[in-house]
Amino acid sequence: MLYINGEWRDAASGKTFDVKNPATGEVVATVAKGSTADTEAAIEAAQAAFGPWSRLTAKERYTYLKKTADILRARTEEIAELITREMGKPVAEARGEIGLAIDYLDWYAEEGKRIYGDTIPASAPNKRLLVLRQPVGVVGAITPWNFPIAMITRKLAPALAAGCTILLKAASATPLAAIEVFKALHEAGVPKGVANLVNGSASEVVGAMMASPVVRKITFTGSTEVGKELVRQSADTMKKVSMELGGHAPFLVFEDADLDKAADGAIASKFRNAGQTCVCTNRIYVQKSVAERFSAIMAEKMKSMVVGNGLESGVNVGPMIDEGAMAKAQEHIDDAVAKGATILCGGGRLTEGAFANGNFFAPTVLSGATHEMKISYEETFGPVAPIFTFETEAEAIQLANATVFGLASYIFTKDGSRMFRVAEQLDYGIVGINDAMPTVAQAPFGGVKESGVGREGGKYGIEDYLDYKFLSLQIEL
Ligand code: NAP
Repeated sequence: MLYINGEWRDAASGKTFDVKNPATGEVVATVAKGSTADTEAAIEAAQAAFGPWSRLTAKERYTYLKKTADILRARTEEIAELITREMGKPVAEARGEIGLAIDYLDWYAEEGKRIYGDTIPASAPNKRLLVLRQPVGVVGAITPWNFPIAMITRKLAPALAAGCTILLKAASATPLAAIEVFKALHEAGVPKGVANLVNGSASEVVGAMMASPVVRKITFTGSTEVGKELVRQSADTMKKVSMELGGHAPFLVFEDADLDKAADGAIASKFRNAGQTCVCTNRIYVQKSVAERFSAIMAEKMKSMVVGNGLESGVNVGPMIDEGAMAKAQEHIDDAVAKGATILCGGGRLTEGAFANGNFFAPTVLSGATHEMKISYEETFGPVAPIFTFETEAEAIQLANATVFGLASYIFTKDGSRMFRVAEQLDYGIVGINDAMPTVAQAPFGGVKESGVGREGGKYGIEDYLDYKFLSLQIEL
């Protein structure tokens, strides 16, 4: 179903599409497939709702967002199962993601009360200079399938808190969690037109958003390739853009690190969501003197990884999203092995028995990786962990930065000076220091270079939904 102007609707064309469970191949649901006409209706609704919504007090908007958060909190279990069915992540991870999604709603409900302007000392005695912060207007949001709920509220919550209205297109693989968010907004009594959901054809729905002069801002999370195309398209109507794009995270393990903790961190960061997160470790660099020991610890710990249907207890690696994702992971392994890497565990698809109908891929660790291999410069987006080695701190930094991406990076060391020295030289938006899980609602999330522009999260994440308006007054003295 589409949610436009406060109503649940079928697509104007009557078209639908199926959502499939990547663990079983079964159809989980059939949903409306929106197109240009539906998107234009949503834009019109968002435009009509903008004036009244932007004039509400911050406290009124707070109430709607808090209610939405509370409704989602109460439904955590049922939505977690739905997420596992539509995209495969283990249900415990889905629960964690819903917690993060709710954190964004809670955080921005409050942050909306702190949108402050400025007064500026004037250049003449009879002048007064003021700066107002105002919502940018109608926002178009586009989200990926790998975090089907948190990526939505990370955009929706700051947009609504700032006084913007929004239309959102969720990924076609995962429209069901999105529908749950909009059900919660509806139940919370959010006025009609303030938040609209148009799932469906990417080219038509996003195309209509990009073409519309009414949509003043585009916020996108997804691949770098599509992000670049949207930036190009945004030029015609000069929209504000924020882009949360691909990553290629380096994970640096220095010889003074606690190797056991570093291996736990590498595994958590790499194999969460079957390696399908933008902040997933894509390259593990280990100082040569400890590389063999680290690889052995990693290989030993990998024995406790359980692959399977995310609904089953004990499973910590679910299926991959589709055939294409598995093919890319396999291509990276084959290329690495052909160029001299050794497979320490895993190595390819799992197809026997319970795995027969799903997109299961064995968690894989490779040693002897080098910068000639594809895996060193392309985002794998799958459960493959290549181990590279380095001799010196300077070399580690140079190798870590040798990529067009710049989202997350990780350092494991006990040396406090090194923590700062290395973190300051890494060309990344996020540095986890002895911490493989840095994402929280109150901190800025985002990348540099081809990983994107703008930040989501914390006080930084609301900036992109606000304009400055300068008032210059002459008064009688
Ligand atoms: P994607 O293929 O770029 O899709 C993302 C969204 O864009 C989906 O809603 C998709 O719709 C839509 N889309 C696809 N092609 C489009 C086009 N030509 N024009 C307009 N819209 C289009 O990315 P994905 O495979 O879903 O997600 C994986 C990528 O997202 C990875 O690169 C990952 O690193 C990145 N990511 C980044 C962050 C971050 O915060 N930086 C977070 C999560 C993921 P359909 O589903 O209908 O095709």
